[in-house]
Amino acid sequence: MSKKSRRKKRHVPKRTCVGCRETLAKQTLTRIVRSPDGVQVDLTGKISGRGAYLHNQRECWDRALKGALANALRTKLTAEERSTLEAYSKNVGRET
Ligand SMILES: [Zn+2]
Repeated sequence: MSKKSRRKKRHVPKRTCVGCRETLAKQTLTRIVRSPDGVQVDLTGKISGRGAYLHNQRECWDRALKGALANALRTKLTAEERSTLEAYSKNVGRET
């Protein structure tokens, strides 16, 4: 009757989605990074820089692009970065 045996915990890194503020396993999130080359989607997880995470839902991307992402990265998105991310977001959540 101990409360310790809820679930087996492996070490799963958690991150917060900047769109909905939900905490999720890192692997289900997409990393956006503010690197010296600008803000970009980091599919490898290896680009260094300030990162923010978004999960695989259009809503979260929409919300993020309205300002949450720029806040999280402490920057402003250039028009070019924004359109790159918007283009990317169109395919988000469309898994077949
Ligand atoms: Zn989310």
